[in-house]
Amino acid sequence: MIHQNLRELRESINQVARSSNRDPEEIQLVAVSKRFPLAAMEEALKAGQMIFGENYIQEAAEKKSALLDRIRLHFIGNLQSNKAKIAVETCDMVETIDRPKIVRALHKHLVSQDRHLDVLVQVNVGQDSHKSGVYPHEAESLLMYINDFPRLRLRGLMTMPPYTPDPEMARPYFKALRSLAEQMKVKGLLGKSGKIELSMGMSHDYHVAIEEGATLIRIGTAIFGERPPLSQNRKD
Ligand SMILES: *Cc1c(COP(=O)(O)O)cnc(C)c1O
Repeated sequence: MIHQNLRELRESINQVARSSNRDPEEIQLVAVSKRFPLAAMEEALKAGQMIFGENYIQEAAEKKSALLDRIRLHFIGNLQSNKAKIAVETCDMVETIDRPKIVRALHKHLVSQDRHLDVLVQVNVGQDSHKSGVYPHEAESLLMYINDFPRLRLRGLMTMPPYTPDPEMARPYFKALRSLAEQMKVKGLLGKSGKIELSMGMSHDYHVAIEEGATLIRIGTAIFGERPPLSQNRKD
């Protein structure tokens, strides 16, 4: 099932990329495995999937210690600064940087573990007060701030637009993220180390996101099926 879903998804990604004149190679699939068991990840691994996305740091750490370097792990949840050490030990990329405090906490542990970490800044393009991420007008100062911490490699921006059943409604938000990234590039705050990553698009709207320039798409249900409910005794 997972094998088949991945195959169809990759086919669809290639198709959308080609029809929007993009190279399918520049679009990476992050398989969002939150709340799915290791067995599901193993199945995806067998089907050639390498990058996985997790929202809860404890769960991410457990999965990483089981699968080690067979996977690359992207953290896509809300990261508390007291979990920064685990994030540094566990993650290949943190996509959800949204405040100076988490930047300082990550950097401290990166120094003591002698590591570097790829990061994205999460932007709340919908300016929804219930969602995390910086507002677009706050992005510039956070990017400037991150640029002073040499162990964080700032790769681009990430967003999660307000949910709408109609994927077309997400298009303006994807456009806004891309245009913000372009402005930041002109100011010299992004793209210094090559290509700019735009993490946008999920199971129901990834095709629109690809048309609008996504380089990372984060997909859970279309690969693994419906997610098991949140467990009651989660500690993070
Ligand atoms: C859960 C999650 C996804 C995946 O959502 P699906 O609708 O299952 O594809 C993507 N991004 C983030 C930040 C998530 O929390």
